Amino acid sequence: MKRRYFIVSAGLAAAAYAAYSFMAGNLLGAPSVVSQTCGYCGMKIERREFAAELVVDGRRYFYDDVGCMMIHYLSFKGVVEPVKGAKPGRVEKVLVQCFDVEEAVDASVAWFVKGSDVKTPMRHGYIAFKSLSSALEFAKKHGGEVFGWDKLVESFHRTVEHTHEEAHGEIADAFGIELKLLDGRPATVSQILKAGNPVLLVFFATWCPTCSKNITTLTKAYPHFRNKVAVLLTSFDPGDTPQEIQRFLEQHNAPSDWTVAQPNLEFLVALRVITQETIFGISAKGEIVYEKRFGTLTEDDWLNIVHRLEASR
Ligand SMILES: [Zn+2]
Repeated sequence: MKRRYFIVSAGLAAAAYAAYSFMAGNLLGAPSVVSQTCGYCGMKIERREFAAELVVDGRRYFYDDVGCMMIHYLSFKGVVEPVKGAKPGRVEKVLVQCFDVEEAVDASVAWFVKGSDVKTPMRHGYIAFKSLSSALEFAKKHGGEVFGWDKLVESFHRTVEHTHEEAHGEIADAFGIELKLLDGRPATVSQILKAGNPVLLVFFATWCPTCSKNITTLTKAYPHFRNKVAVLLTSFDPGDTPQEIQRFLEQHNAPSDWTVAQPNLEFLVALRVITQETIFGISAKGEIVYEKRFGTLTEDDWLNIVHRLEASR
């Protein structure tokens, strides 16, 4: 919105808001959504057009990204293990802010575009539309696939909970994909495994608060298993430059003996990584024995994963 237009319309907006508050089913559209923090990742909500809201057991939760809402949604539904205290409850409302109109609609009647060139705040990439025709038009211009709510739930769930067998072939391929380390040298997971130790493969993004917490606890836990399990960090976001990654590592006092790779799209696709906070535990034999697609880990959680990795030798 242009500033002048904003000032002129501010008074009107205040009056409209009073009326608006009485409208049911449009809670998210209230101006207050911007400046709320995301119920899942904790980031401040700055872009209203990507926001979402859940009402669970009478409580309202706001999200900066439809993907953040989806993680909480599956958690509240009891479909995945609870994340961030989102224990199973009664999901009364699922609202998404539309990209095409300044309105929030019930997710079950919205259309979603995924895989376009428009980035969403947490890079999950789901963009909601009120009308199918605007979703199709958007996808034509920006790329991506158009689908409805049921398919969104199904595909999100499948990606976070897929079985190891299903992905077996792809994973074997993934371990041979050449990653570029921060200093430009090449490395593959297979090469790292040749040293004989299990590997903790940790995705992150330099702007992600959940990743920040995980790297902090991993740094603290690391002295307990140094020389027993190798740590491979790789950025999830193609926008993360080596300099930004370096700064991120310094801010978190990351040990200098971690292997750190630049983002690699092929690697992400092969491992079906859709959230920046994904973690894999790979046994010395090259099998994935642990995986977590979202959520924070404590120092003890890391040590438990390490024990599992060592036991699987
Ligand atoms: Zn979020």
